[in-house]
Amino acid sequence: MRAMVKANEMKTITGQKVDFSKIRDQFPVLASTVRGKPLAYLDNAATTQKPWAVIDKMRDFDSREYATVRRGAYRFAEQATHEFEEVRAKVALFLKASSPEEIVFTSGATMGVNLVAGSWGRKFIGEGDEIILSHLEHHANILPWQMLAQEKGAVIKVIPVNDAGELDMEEYGRLLSSRTKLVAVNHVANSIGTINPVQTICQMAKAAGAVTLVDGAQAAPHMKIDVREIGCDFYVLSAHKMYGPSGLGVLYGRKEALERTPPFLTGGDMIERVTFEKSTFAKPPHRFEAGTPPVTQVIGLGAAIDFLSSVGMDHIEQQEKKLLDYATELVSRIETVNIIGAARDKAAIISFTLADAHPHDVATILDSEGVAVRAGHHCAQPTMDRFCVPATTRASFSFYNTFEEVERLAEGIKQATDLFRG
Ligand code: PLP
Repeated sequence: MRAMVKANEMKTITGQKVDFSKIRDQFPVLASTVRGKPLAYLDNAATTQKPWAVIDKMRDFDSREYATVRRGAYRFAEQATHEFEEVRAKVALFLKASSPEEIVFTSGATMGVNLVAGSWGRKFIGEGDEIILSHLEHHANILPWQMLAQEKGAVIKVIPVNDAGELDMEEYGRLLSSRTKLVAVNHVANSIGTINPVQTICQMAKAAGAVTLVDGAQAAPHMKIDVREIGCDFYVLSAHKMYGPSGLGVLYGRKEALERTPPFLTGGDMIERVTFEKSTFAKPPHRFEAGTPPVTQVIGLGAAIDFLSSVGMDHIEQQEKKLLDYATELVSRIETVNIIGAARDKAAIISFTLADAHPHDVATILDSEGVAVRAGHHCAQPTMDRFCVPATTRASFSFYNTFEEVERLAEGIKQATDLFRG
């Protein structure tokens, strides 16, 4: 069965070998068993597991150095502030931003979009203005814009999707006009895995005079990101999808875009001067970080980025592509399966339905075999509507998954097929 599969090993440009089975050993959860069977964790689009490097870093910080940041003159507070700001610089490098001042810590990708809609959007979007979204968005990149549009009397336009799950770029071109104020699209669709041509999308939006936001929650853990090359004004991501802690996200904002953006949440730490009559606010990024930030989580994200960089985003991308190709080959051979999403450019996500079986039942059968997948609408109901299904079963891969796990997924689907046929 594994004739076309290479070993879990890959050579770096310098000829050094990357041994993915050794890398896998660094994730303690992956050694777990479920009902006596080894866990095959294939729900990486929902959240990823943490390596020891992240777990240890956060535990060490909490047990030896913990203090809140930006407030104390004592050594611990200074050290914590230093480490916290170092992570900001690390994130800037990871995304190829121009400077750490363009990096805002948020509570997640959802908060990043809400921040831009609720502050930039409230200031710059007015009646009759148009906001362009795609038909592949996660609800986190629909609802903040829908609320804003309802409040302001703005109009939402949607880039349609073809049967393969790719955006119709010609129609996008026709949707753009001088009324377009914002284009917000995801980099990778969490529901079906399409990698969107965000650089072209942003170029076209810019030419029409529109501001752009890219939801990179599903892209940042899997490929090299260069926000300047993409040319977006805003880019959001989520730490828990990139081997870091939950409750933390990042909003990248181009310097000029952030400077034009008013505060969103207000409170401590984001001010210049407060009086009862009038207050003035700090410059970005601190203007957008009201209250005590998730200090330990930020430190953990720093360790996650170090970890990803040590494996190499190129290797990660290549390994996940191999896993996707193998999974697509095995799963599409099962005749009862309908894979939704066949984009030419696709991340390691397989979303499918099975004739006569509900996606939740398929996920339950897979769970009985120790294979953890997600079933549901994946917070992308408009995408489900587009493909005329209420839900799918979704397997989403990480570089730490093995080819054997892919085979167990395929075997589990065959079992489900037999059961429902019988
Ligand atoms: N955007 C996309 C494409 C996602 O897949 C998700 C989470 O699944 C989000 C946004 C929301 O991320 P978070 O829950 O971390 O805010």
